[in-house]
Amino acid sequence: MKLYEFQGKEIFKAYGIPVQSGFLILANDEVKNLTPPLVLKAQLLVGGRGKAGGIKIWDGNIDVSKIINKLFALTIKGEKVNAILALEKVDISREIYISITFNRGKSTPLLIVGTSGGMDIEESAKLNKEKIHFIEFDPFLGILEYQIRFIAKKINIDNYLKFKKIIEAMYKIFKEYDATLVEINPLAVTSSGLVAIDAKINLDDQSCFRHEELFKKLREEQNIIQGEKDTNASISKEDTITYVPLSGNIGLISDGAGTGLLTLDLIHGFGGEVASFCELGGITSSEIMLKALKMVNKNPSLKSILVVLIGGFNRMDDMAEGIVKFKKEFKRDIPIFIRMCGTKEEIGKQLMKEANIPVYNSLNEAAEAAVKEAKGN
Ligand code: GDP
Ligand code: MN
Repeated sequence: MKLYEFQGKEIFKAYGIPVQSGFLILANDEVKNLTPPLVLKAQLLVGGRGKAGGIKIWDGNIDVSKIINKLFALTIKGEKVNAILALEKVDISREIYISITFNRGKSTPLLIVGTSGGMDIEESAKLNKEKIHFIEFDPFLGILEYQIRFIAKKINIDNYLKFKKIIEAMYKIFKEYDATLVEINPLAVTSSGLVAIDAKINLDDQSCFRHEELFKKLREEQNIIQGEKDTNASISKEDTITYVPLSGNIGLISDGAGTGLLTLDLIHGFGGEVASFCELGGITSSEIMLKALKMVNKNPSLKSILVVLIGGFNRMDDMAEGIVKFKKEFKRDIPIFIRMCGTKEEIGKQLMKEANIPVYNSLNEAAEAAVKEAKGN
């Protein structure tokens, strides 16, 4: 689960990481008595808001409601702005990048620190490799003092103790919340010390059972912001269908959890990201196939749909019927890729061909085609 900036900052504050004071504005809120200068920030789960115009500074020269209305009218990378975080503006003399994540290859947590953070971190990381430092550390020992000293020196931090406190707090959050990413970009050097200007926290959905109350609270907050728009915002079970929302753009439907997981890995292997994991469950029907497609289709970031079916008790002619019905009913033209085999596959494939829907024998080929489509080539 990805958290909004305001949710991340609430956690930062509780762990003693300095953040600007501020408040959340929702679309129907009446705003009055605001004092400039303020930074007004669209609350979105996608990155790169600054570059896309989602961050505005109000210095008091024009009517603040004009800026707010402009922000609410924005859609960035398919996400509509439904909430704005208003923060007291700080003067920044330097921006630093810090994150804690996993080095999955080495199975260790990893601290990443960049001399110059900010909106161009990705580009500058490619251009100036010496400006980014990667430090793997022991999960049980945490980040050791000498490692923090080393980094502080490398990036010329004056206030070592404050810097250390922030990094230690970040790792505490990483551990206690079962996060997969805790990122501050930028951490600003200001005349009054270090301030986390942005907050990005991703939680491990697999750890949900350990933090039921937390996930519930965060999800409720997210639902208020996302409104009725995304009724699939959390894991749901409808009839026999299990639907798990993810953050990519390929809608995956399978008629078995194992096949689904395997396909998920294949998609990742081809460089794609899955928008949702949707499993039909048990013996199924054309109605359930149709329903699953409708659920998956609600996601605004969708670029392609991949359906993987293995006909045992399930009949491929039934499945094909549901897919054809969906294609006829829904005008939104998201390309669908099918892999089907087993019971009645000849009829199923014939129906797919008649409906002009690509059907594959090989799971690899179907996954690759769905990824290619989502990447736009
Ligand atoms: P992102 O684009 O989604 O990563 O949004 P950020 O919250 O990181 O903000 C992007 C950029 O806006 C930062 O790198 C800063 O340069 C600038 N910015 C954000 N808040 C402030 C602020 O309070 N003061 C100043 N001077 N710049 C800010
Ligand atoms: Mn940022």
